[in-house]
Amino acid sequence: NITDTNWIGLLEQANALSGNPKGDNLRYDGKVAIVTGAGGGLGRAYALLLSSLGASVVVNDLGGSAAGSGNDQRAADVVVEEIRRAGGKAVANYDSVEEGEKVVQTAIQAFGRVDILVNNAGILRDKSFLRMTDTDWDLVQRVHLRGTYKVTRAAWPYFVKQKYGRIVNTSSAVGLYGNFGQANYSAAKAGILALSNTLALEGRKNNIVVNTIAPNAGTRMTATIMPPEMVEALKPDYVAPLVAFLVHEACPDTGKVFEVGSGWVANVRWQRSGGYGFPVDRPLLPEDIAAKWQEIVDFDNGRATYPTNTQESFQGLYENYLRQQQKQ
Ligand code: NAD
Repeated sequence: NITDTNWIGLLEQANALSGNPKGDNLRYDGKVAIVTGAGGGLGRAYALLLSSLGASVVVNDLGGSAAGSGNDQRAADVVVEEIRRAGGKAVANYDSVEEGEKVVQTAIQAFGRVDILVNNAGILRDKSFLRMTDTDWDLVQRVHLRGTYKVTRAAWPYFVKQKYGRIVNTSSAVGLYGNFGQANYSAAKAGILALSNTLALEGRKNNIVVNTIAPNAGTRMTATIMPPEMVEALKPDYVAPLVAFLVHEACPDTGKVFEVGSGWVANVRWQRSGGYGFPVDRPLLPEDIAAKWQEIVDFDNGRATYPTNTQESFQGLYENYLRQQQKQ
């Protein structure tokens, strides 16, 4: 159970030693990590960091184009070589994340176990919604949402059996807020966040910790929309330490989402207005809603809350129900 982990001691140890310029107090020795889409960009940075801190890493990458066409084994091979040259342990896997079982089997065959999963692989097929084709929609859902599901589904029984697992899933600010021209991608990324929140609940009793990141980094995915100096400033190396911390046994939190980039890390949560409770002993009309609209959307009257689960979500409705019962 995650409440039983010795994370407080580990955090204190890390704090006490945080002057250590090598940054190797939080170790991953004996742990096996799968990083999907690790042949470049953010995934490569995660694989390099985790392996440098003792983890054995499966470097998964299909090696296709940014839009998801083709495949090339060199993408994963180059990163595996880089890790081995630095004295780390790594193997390549060239399957699409849509074939999650094969990705996980590579970890089992090479290292005998799996402890850490970073779902990171992704593609982009941006189009305004009017021009979006079914192919643009389906490919993006398949790689991001179904790919995250498939690899996680294959790793999950191992995590349950050993009562230990650490997962980081990759959403995006676009999944949280939407973005012009990215209906397919934003829907998939919001789906990944919802999946993570449910897995965090289901994983709790077996010490499976699931968190989500919304990263920003200069990679080939963003090279077309960012000026070159920004690509340079937003190095994946400024995202990787958060991912590493989230997959360490010292991580105290589950079911959280973090925005991260250029060395800045922040936690995002839902806020709900206090709302307005209408009487239910007479018909509720659209005009009633219109009349109270300002109160419904008011976050600044001191009644706003931050619900974190469906029980807390139900509270607003339930309180109105009780008020109405008392009146009768
Ligand atoms: P990237 O294109 O550099 O890396 C993605 C990698 O995934 C590539 O190496 C690619 O070959 C691989 N891949 C694609 N489809 C695959 C499949 N079916 N199976 C296995 N591997 C596959 O992009 P990146 O910027 O490093 O993005 C990494 C993740 O972060 C993605 O999920 C992306 O949506 C997300 N993200 C990135 C940013 C950013 O600013 N770079 C912002 C928000 C979210």
